[in-house]
Amino acid sequence: MAFPPLDDAAIAVACGHETYRRGLEYARAGHVRQVTWSDSGNTLTALVQGNRPHPYVVHVSTTQTASGEDLLVGHCTCPMSFMCKHVAAALIVGREGGSDAHPVPSSGSSWRRTLRAIAAPEVDLGYEPIALQLSVQQPGRGHDYGAGRARHRLNARPMMLGAKGRWVHSNISWQRLRYLRGNANPEHLRIASRLQSLHPSSSFSYYGASTQWLDVAEIDGLALWSILLEARRAQMPVILDDKAQSAVTFIEEPAEIAFDIIRSRSWLIATPELWCGEDLMSFMSLDLIGQPAHAAFAWLTDAATGKTEELTLLSLAAPLGDDLGDLLVQEAAIEIPVAE
Ligand SMILES: [Zn+2]
Repeated sequence: MAFPPLDDAAIAVACGHETYRRGLEYARAGHVRQVTWSDSGNTLTALVQGNRPHPYVVHVSTTQTASGEDLLVGHCTCPMSFMCKHVAAALIVGREGGSDAHPVPSSGSSWRRTLRAIAAPEVDLGYEPIALQLSVQQPGRGHDYGAGRARHRLNARPMMLGAKGRWVHSNISWQRLRYLRGNANPEHLRIASRLQSLHPSSSFSYYGASTQWLDVAEIDGLALWSILLEARRAQMPVILDDKAQSAVTFIEEPAEIAFDIIRSRSWLIATPELWCGEDLMSFMSLDLIGQPAHAAFAWLTDAATGKTEELTLLSLAAPLGDDLGDLLVQEAAIEIPVAE
């Protein structure tokens, strides 16, 4: 797998226009300390100075999509963790050959290339938006994660506006994303394609034409979260599959796990709880995204119809392993005997 040509437009398309712009500022300010290409030229590693004392470590490689395109995959040790401005800055400096820490030279032609890149992926109000619809499904039978608890699915599919102004899926699907013609918002299309390419099933050839939904809870939680944040920045609607097609709620502040501890004479009883800042998050139902979990989804169900009424997505401040995750989801408690 080879790196696609790293011109400004390609980096802007891979990282997003705004992220590219900030990456360019970083590159020009000389924040990229060190860039190294692997001998094969297939991976790029860089140190990028961010807001913290230690530089972030950036690692970029490529992966092939189901359609055979080479896709850039950039990870970073910063809180964004994926396709962030540090990745963009590393790519901008890295394409000059790397190994050195010089910022992009401002030669006569570079402003022209920059201008073209900034003009290209700009969101035009004339484009038709793509929405992401989410649906919570009971754990499938015979489709659990090894010996562990069967998880709820968080199914997603792309939608576009129909003639009556409602989101419909008749003219768009995961399979048809790359054949979409006409006026689809290119930024939304890029985000949807990235989501699809990160799903484990996209690497299998049997990924069939009948697959309408992708279970995004199977995607790595950090990667999914960064894509969802990008969708928000690109004003890409994320909606529920209820009648009103209501908006899904995002909690941007990462949630932390704390233990509520009750002490009896011979036992400590510890129950895990989710906190966002000062607020105890209390949800009717909750399940986790990724293994270990870096994100979670919580929902409310209408008692009469059994349909999902509200959906909230949140990220976790620290990854959660299976054991603690199961306790949290099942609201179970750990009992610890008190030494006498
Ligand atoms: Zn970063």
